[in-house]
Amino acid sequence: MKKVVIIGGGASGTLLVIDLLRAAKSQTISITLVEKREKIGRGVAYSTALEHHLLNVPAAKMSAFPDEPDHFLNWLGENRHSFGPSDFVPRRIYGEYLSSLLDAEVRRSASLVRVFEEAADLEPTDYGFVVKLASGKEIPADLVVLAFGNFLPPHPSVPDLSFITAEKYIRDVWSEGSFEKIDATDDVLIIGTGLSMVDFVLNLRSTGHQGKIKAISTKGLLPAEHRLGYTYPSFADELKGLEKITQIFTIVRKHVAVAEANGSDWRAVIDSLRPVTQELWQQLPTAEKRYFMQHLSRHWNAARHRMPPAAAAIINEMIATGSLEVISGRLRHISTDAAGRFLVNYSREGSQDYIACDALVNCIASQSNFTRLESDLVKNLLGRGAVRCDAVSLGLDASPDGRLIDINGVVSDRLWTLGTALKGTLWETTAIPEIRIQAANLAERIAST
Ligand SMILES: Cc1cc2nc3c(=O)[nH]c(=O)nc-3n(C[C@H](O)[C@H](O)[C@H](O)COP(=O)(O)OP(=O)(O)OC[C@H]3O[C@@H](n4cnc5c(N)ncnc54)[C@H](O)[C@@H]3O)c2cc1C
Repeated sequence: MKKVVIIGGGASGTLLVIDLLRAAKSQTISITLVEKREKIGRGVAYSTALEHHLLNVPAAKMSAFPDEPDHFLNWLGENRHSFGPSDFVPRRIYGEYLSSLLDAEVRRSASLVRVFEEAADLEPTDYGFVVKLASGKEIPADLVVLAFGNFLPPHPSVPDLSFITAEKYIRDVWSEGSFEKIDATDDVLIIGTGLSMVDFVLNLRSTGHQGKIKAISTKGLLPAEHRLGYTYPSFADELKGLEKITQIFTIVRKHVAVAEANGSDWRAVIDSLRPVTQELWQQLPTAEKRYFMQHLSRHWNAARHRMPPAAAAIINEMIATGSLEVISGRLRHISTDAAGRFLVNYSREGSQDYIACDALVNCIASQSNFTRLESDLVKNLLGRGAVRCDAVSLGLDASPDGRLIDINGVVSDRLWTLGTALKGTLWETTAIPEIRIQAANLAERIAST
């Protein structure tokens, strides 16, 4: 019997287990899913209980299975949730969906063990690994899949980090109780202007927050708003083999102009690239990937990771009425006074300015440089040389199908990953439309070997 251990029971780990249970004959495989949270199938994105935290992808694109595109829509109908294909469903419901799929597979098969603990290390053995849990318990494994997803964001990049111990510095916006630290009249500064910022502002608004809310990022770019119903034909052939990111962007801009001249929308042009984004990324030399990260990725992220229209309407209204201010600026220094208030110094176009606030909220994206992560598991894996960072430090070095590469460049056939850790390898890998394909392919591979 093949022993498979999956570390991380967020959407990636859960989808993989479901696919494995569907693909494998239960007599041939035993699966252990290790998750440090209390619930499986939720992870960071789908743990929220708040109704205004919506999926940022329309329901029609959120099926768990690439070969059954209507699966989520059908499940919604069967479970008396009245949403259509272009609706943005509360994320809480998506968490229910994944958990219920897992429960259904588990009822059919007895080959899954769920362990609610943190995995702290992987020790290589002659047959595979021993997974060591934080409690000291050990689980033998022929094959391990790291599905550890999103990590905490880095602290803001300022020289003096003494402010991080202040009570109202909130680094983990998704942790229970983080939101309650903010009083209704507190002036709040949010660092980051992406989708996490949007969620946090919606939280504040839903509780009748009365203090000032400001959000700052280097470019001050907000996520674009979704606009559905437009299509654009693929122009992937024109991009094949291009090794300069600026060449790719020139062609994309040309098509945006064509789309807009023909009554379509720029979003449809970006969306038409989705099926080939991984391929385009892989054809770029490392220096071009770095150039993209430094100069273009913020614009790409704002265009690609969009707000549902309901969220955009609230954010736009708050900006128009002055209850939310979005600032572009580079943070230079953060200090606290005796009362615990923050003084944040930033620069913009050569001049400097200050923001004073009662609460400082970190909505920077998840830390992607694995050498800086606080996870014992990651530290031990890196320390042992079982894994290494990819060339642009966006994740772990791996083959495009998820086999991890060790410090000597050896590609493992026993240690795999999917989802966020593949960002440096594939770039487009953090959302369900990509993760479900990775999970299905990996399950088939594991089940057939
Ligand atoms: C706020 C937010 C909203 C999003 N909305 C959408 C959306 O609408 N549509 C979409 O397609 N994508 C969305 N995403 C992208 C999201 O990343 C994916 O959809 C998906 O949730 C990723 O799942 P994951 O399992 O890879 O990662 P995670 O959700 O981070 O789950 C990883 C799990 O691994 C566990 N874990 C980590 N290390 C260990 C360890 N050592 N031992 C034990 N357990 C461990 C963690 O506790 C966690 O539960 C969103 C992301 C965020 C952050």
